[in-house]
Amino acid sequence: MDRKRILITGAAGFLGSHLCDRAIKEGYHVIAMDNLITGDLKNIEHLFKLEQFEFYHHDITKFIHIPGKLDYILHFASPASPIDYLKIPIQTLKVGAHGTHNCLGLAKAKGARILVASTSEVYGDPLVHPQTEEYWGNVNPVGPRGVYDEAKRFMESITMAYNRFHGVETRIIRIFNTYGPRMRLNDGRALPAFIGQALRGEDLTVFGDGSQTRSFCYVDDLVEGIYRLLMSDYDMPVNIGNPTEITLKEFAEEVIKLTGTTQKIVYKDLPVDDPKQRKPDITKAKALLGWEPKVSRAEGLKITYEYFKNLPQEEWSKLPK
Ligand code: NAD
Repeated sequence: MDRKRILITGAAGFLGSHLCDRAIKEGYHVIAMDNLITGDLKNIEHLFKLEQFEFYHHDITKFIHIPGKLDYILHFASPASPIDYLKIPIQTLKVGAHGTHNCLGLAKAKGARILVASTSEVYGDPLVHPQTEEYWGNVNPVGPRGVYDEAKRFMESITMAYNRFHGVETRIIRIFNTYGPRMRLNDGRALPAFIGQALRGEDLTVFGDGSQTRSFCYVDDLVEGIYRLLMSDYDMPVNIGNPTEITLKEFAEEVIKLTGTTQKIVYKDLPVDDPKQRKPDITKAKALLGWEPKVSRAEGLKITYEYFKNLPQEEWSKLPK
């Protein structure tokens, strides 16, 4: 059978592994690539037995060689949580710059359409609320988080340069906070941090006074948005995220209720450059892709909690890689 062939970088990570599942479901031949710096083969091992799935252990900042034709590339390789990119800042910049350059070069050579994973972090600590794609952002290039934000901003620029200069078919998605099974409990983000603390019977740590807001998109909704954008003919950035906002304090209270923990909330100092408000304007995604989130926070949180609860108990207290 002449299947469409898709390369997924960052395939062993949280989002990449869900994209592998979706691409297999769509009938593609999946070429999964990862250097496992923050990912885990456990996320994709269920696919290894399939003949339409192959895995390359490869660092994409090095030249990428894929034999045969390639129809699509989903470029998702990059450390994504602050705990990771603050620990490996140079690799983060390199995968955003050299890694993206290599992926775009491959897309050009193969005539493949490429979708790159950008982020709401390109808006930095936004002065516009909610964030539309037209907002240029408020990023501190020399702050600790700048390594991630600027890597992604460079990624968007080089992607548009390949689009305009080489005629490569490109898509840019700006992903807002996403959660779901296969996240790491110890990745430092609020949702797994709260659930991990509840599971271990610890107090839940809120940074600052907890009035800063976040919006959480369930992974299945995001994957649907990615697929629709990949299939669309729109080449400018599109926000995909859940616009339902909640303060971190309220969110911690929701987790306490869901898990039935008897612990309380404790407050610590806010990290440098922590965004105070984040909420996507998804007018474009609705109009262009007919997309909007379908999974409620109550539903998604319950599925995610069950996933974490069923992990072997030693995973609950594992330290970050
Ligand atoms: P993740 O850390 O779970 O996955 C990233 C994967 O990329 C890992 O498996 C890692 O090993 C791999 N990787 C990193 N550098 C690599 C390299 N040089 N070569 C090959 N593989 C490499 O993170 P995630 O949450 O799945 O995020 C995936 C992508 O989505 C990232 O590009 C991230 O910036 C973007 N994103 C995620 C979110 C979110 O809420 N999860 C939000 C915005 C953007």
